[in-house]
Amino acid sequence: MGLFSHDVGIDLGTANTLVMVPSKGIIINEPSVVAIHRKTRKVLAIGADAKRMVGRTPANIVAVRPLKDGVISDFDVTEQMLSHFIRQVHNRFGNLPKPRVVVGIPSGVTEVEKMAVRDAARNAGARACHLIEEPMAAAIGAGLPVTEPTGSMIVDIGGGTTEVAVISLGGIVVSQSIRVAGDEMDEEIVQYARQRHNLLIGDRMAEEVKIAVGSAWPLTEERMATLRGRDLVSGLPRVIDISSVEIRDGISGSVNQIVEAVKSTLEATPPELVSDLISGGIALAGGGALLAGLDQRLSHETKMHVYVADDPLTCVVRGTAIVLQEIELIRKVEVPEQYARPIRAG
Ligand code: ADP
Ligand code: MG
Repeated sequence: MGLFSHDVGIDLGTANTLVMVPSKGIIINEPSVVAIHRKTRKVLAIGADAKRMVGRTPANIVAVRPLKDGVISDFDVTEQMLSHFIRQVHNRFGNLPKPRVVVGIPSGVTEVEKMAVRDAARNAGARACHLIEEPMAAAIGAGLPVTEPTGSMIVDIGGGTTEVAVISLGGIVVSQSIRVAGDEMDEEIVQYARQRHNLLIGDRMAEEVKIAVGSAWPLTEERMATLRGRDLVSGLPRVIDISSVEIRDGISGSVNQIVEAVKSTLEATPPELVSDLISGGIALAGGGALLAGLDQRLSHETKMHVYVADDPLTCVVRGTAIVLQEIELIRKVEVPEQYARPIRAG
């Protein structure tokens, strides 16, 4: 075992938090959800247990996603969630020397929020905490040549945010972050069911159907799915069949906004780097990258080669683990306390 064998890489995502110990693999992969008692503010559950409570909580319990919009809405809760996950690592591996921690954070997070994340990691026992921006971590995890003098583009479609970035020489040259990603698609499916079918469904149902038959480009064989909800007219439970064509139509607003973010980032990219992108293509990461046909749609719109990175849901955490193992890389890619801001497209 190496000197840093218990260091941990963390993907603090808007939808999912993943923790990886480079020598052990990914050891935590849980929803970024915390269930809290409304009055006492006591944390009742974290992760998968808390997500099961979403939409099902009695009046005195609330299930919150502290990073839902790519900003930390609640420092306290975020800190408790982070501590909980770091402590689980401690519990799994016994009495450990204080780990070094690399955390991938949404790029919209402010300086104050970054401080909160560093504090949370240190309070949870970390010896040192380095922050890297999610698109950088995703690009590293996707195997892009981020430190080379060549441009690479990563599009990370998560739950709350889509981050588009062009990276070269270890830095983000152009980037854009929009608050449209998987959650917005779910929300659009809820609206669609209500408006077109008079059916009230929950977010979880919408997400299930999106994952099952959602798409951004015509499928070779269109499919059917089942929506269960409540009829808005009769007030009674109702089950309907819905086609993948309808779901595609339903989520087209979100998909179009993601396409526009990619296009406007390309427009803001310096020409030399654009020519690199033409040869290297565009890599998709995050859970949204798994939306069927999103690569084809983006390829059609940009006339570039677009591909889904290997295991897109784990790119960010694998990126943080790679950074941990290559001490030199930390210096190159971490977010310094003060830094020159990249060009913001859009
Ligand atoms: P974050 O980094 O913001 O935590 P993730 O990268 O974990 O987000 O992605 C979560 C999002 O990906 C959710 O909105 C989820 O519904 C969506 N997702 C997961 N799998 C699929 C799939 N097969 N098709 C479409 N969307 C998916
Ligand atoms: Mg993410």
